[in-house]
Amino acid sequence: MARLLVIGCGGVAQVAIQKCCQNSETFSELMIASRTESKCIELKKKLESQGTPVKIRTATVNADSVEELTALINVYKPDAVLNVALPYQDLTIMDACLACGVDYIDTANYEPEDTDDPKWREIYEKRIKEKGFTAYFDYSWQWAYEEKFREAGLTALLGTGFDPGVTSVFVAYAKKHYFDEIDTVDILDCNGGDHGYPFATNFNPEINLREVSANGSYMENGKWIETKPMEIKREYDFPQVGMKDMYLLHHEEIEALGRNFPEIKRIRFFMTFGQSYLTHMKCLENVGMLSTTPIEFDGKQIVPIQFLKALLPDPASLGPRTVGKTNIGCIFTGKKDGKEKTLYIYNVCDHQECYKELGSQAISYTTGVPAMIGTALVVNGTWKKPGVYTTDQFDPDPYMDMLNKYGLPWVVDENPVLVS
Ligand code: NDP
Repeated sequence: MARLLVIGCGGVAQVAIQKCCQNSETFSELMIASRTESKCIELKKKLESQGTPVKIRTATVNADSVEELTALINVYKPDAVLNVALPYQDLTIMDACLACGVDYIDTANYEPEDTDDPKWREIYEKRIKEKGFTAYFDYSWQWAYEEKFREAGLTALLGTGFDPGVTSVFVAYAKKHYFDEIDTVDILDCNGGDHGYPFATNFNPEINLREVSANGSYMENGKWIETKPMEIKREYDFPQVGMKDMYLLHHEEIEALGRNFPEIKRIRFFMTFGQSYLTHMKCLENVGMLSTTPIEFDGKQIVPIQFLKALLPDPASLGPRTVGKTNIGCIFTGKKDGKEKTLYIYNVCDHQECYKELGSQAISYTTGVPAMIGTALVVNGTWKKPGVYTTDQFDPDPYMDMLNKYGLPWVVDENPVLVS
């Protein structure tokens, strides 16, 4: 029975926390700590009114401060910390976990809040030269903690959302059960949901818009190949969703899979977007609204993308109005027993079903469920191993079983249509 500290109480956290309460044989006590404690208190009340057996406490914390985090961890003494705040806080929370001797879990790799910070820029420019991709986020910052976590006998599990997270587990599962050798992986993230707004993002707008407006890239024969934003477009007929346009993006699991499965010759990631979303995003970008550089406005410093976030619908509020389904999965080519083989493993998730169950839309749901699963496997010892790991580095079977049990059942298709 574990005691868990959850940092953050946004769209993803609310699902992860509710799923922890469904898994009360693993989680007996929870502390929900975030910048705005009122959201934590509201969720605690909801869960208590439903009769959860899990003992819940709340706190306010500024997760940018290692000092505040350390003080909270030392008082609450959790077995692990689940970071479902923002990627900006990954390193401070990892530092606090090391200082207090507790395991660490997150859903997205580190990126800096201020991309103009000269100290960060210097390392970023060096990485572009060495590795050849320009995304603001990469694993180097968190992989640098490997020795510290190993020496402390602690586990850091990185990126246990859907993508990355489940998609990386799908790769480990395909390798374990279906292939002697995987040649290519195409990760396809399709959101067929409609929220009725001309423009909104399904998770944190700042993180989402930064990711989507950046250059794309994929890995071929161990090397990064970078593309212009939205340069590579394909159409795909997604099971239970239908035909959608999808675009090649840089995505963090490519980096981890490229390192951990060097045999894979090509790894790509595609995400679907509708024309309205792309037109709005281009326009906002052209007028400078996606910028993270603070500007002076009316005697105050404001960050344009943070101002935009304040104008856009809160992703957590999209639940009641979003209809349709997501389909996220991986298409593989490779060899088994000397023969060519193809495979598609995917999950279909219905926005309205998620809303009925937990009051969330499917993007938060598909991220929050695996956040709980990864955390449960670390705290119950199944995935406990000193060091810093991604989800493709463990036995995938217990994770795959829990996906079925906790609301994200998956399908294996051994004769899929491939992406050209
Ligand atoms: P939200 O913006 O909805 O929630 C973020 C939460 O973190 C809010 O409760 C916010 O507090 C809190 N927070 C932000 N800064 C701080 C701080 N300095 N100290 C304490 N708390 C803070 O984001 P989402 O729930 O949409 O996303 C959560 C994470 O999940 C992100 O890292 C995102 O990148 C990741 N993600 C991963 C996916 C995957 O598949 N792997 C997919 C989607 C998201 P406040 O309420 O005050 O704003």
